[in-house]
Amino acid sequence: MAVPISQAMTVAKYAIGNSIKGVKRYPLVMMLEPLFQCNLNCVGCGKIQYPREILEKRMPKEDAWAAIEECGAPMVSIAGGEPLIHPEMPEMIQGFIDRKKYIYMCTNAQILLKKIDLYKPNKFFSFGIHLDGVEEVHDKSVNKLGAHKIAVEAIEEAVKRGFRVTTNTTIFNNADPELVRKHFDETMALGVEGMMISPGFPYEKAASQDIFLERKKTVELFRKILSNPDPKWVFNHSPSFLAFLKGEQEYECTPWGNPCYSIFGWQKPCYLINDGYVKTYKELLECIDQYKLGHNGTRPECKDCMLHSGYEPSAVCDIFGSFGGMMRAAKHMRNFKKRA
Ligand code: SF4
Repeated sequence: MAVPISQAMTVAKYAIGNSIKGVKRYPLVMMLEPLFQCNLNCVGCGKIQYPREILEKRMPKEDAWAAIEECGAPMVSIAGGEPLIHPEMPEMIQGFIDRKKYIYMCTNAQILLKKIDLYKPNKFFSFGIHLDGVEEVHDKSVNKLGAHKIAVEAIEEAVKRGFRVTTNTTIFNNADPELVRKHFDETMALGVEGMMISPGFPYEKAASQDIFLERKKTVELFRKILSNPDPKWVFNHSPSFLAFLKGEQEYECTPWGNPCYSIFGWQKPCYLINDGYVKTYKELLECIDQYKLGHNGTRPECKDCMLHSGYEPSAVCDIFGSFGGMMRAAKHMRNFKKRA
């Protein structure tokens, strides 16, 4: 199990509760961007190209708490930018814990050892550490020699101190499946709780545009990577989403499932496409249909997108929304284990 039972139960209760009440559109994970400034310059990132006055802005912790209270999601993923740079981050996280929200703080971990004393292990809180692959792959991806070594040392220290630790890996179209598998082996050996994986998304602002995956290539690549999985690999994803990545399960996007709240407000229409901002999650829901999103829609950005922010909520809603969805997930889990 990639997450503690209490977290799995909270999410299941929340999703089943919405399903029983007939609520069709609800958020699962609030993606929080409390600043855009970062201490790295990763090739696939579309967030750090803002002008200096924007990069220097910091979201007050009260705004972050008001956003989670308004949307009601049971989980929050704090990204950016680099959250460890934000001066109010320890208090912001404590406020989410007080509200019984499960938090993943997505960090490149370059300054984690300097900041780690400001945080305490808690079942609601997990470091989600960015590691794009084995040492040479990660260092190239984040444009910094030695970044992998620093991140690994930070993971070891956080695990030693009893923190929940997960990793985030973005897989680009130039990935070598064998090296990705080696990366999974190395990562699990560090004692992390689970790994998150995602195909790259072509942000228009990202420095390198030739590394992103087309949908067919995504499926081929993930089939190679995830065939015969090592039994030690634990993914922080539902079995249905992993099956989707391998082309064994069809889903349509759930763009309201992982809504993004940043220093500008709620980003519309989804975490990956930016067409401005609205003040409330309710307003986001009201305007979303006009964009015709997803694989069956008309937006060119959606054509090849298979990102977890759009499709993991689809898988989770399927699993907890019907008996059939639960059976599908059980079948995908059995298939995954059989091949291990
Ligand atoms: S398919 Fe991807 S880009 Fe399109 S709405 Fe869904 S998550 Fe956003």
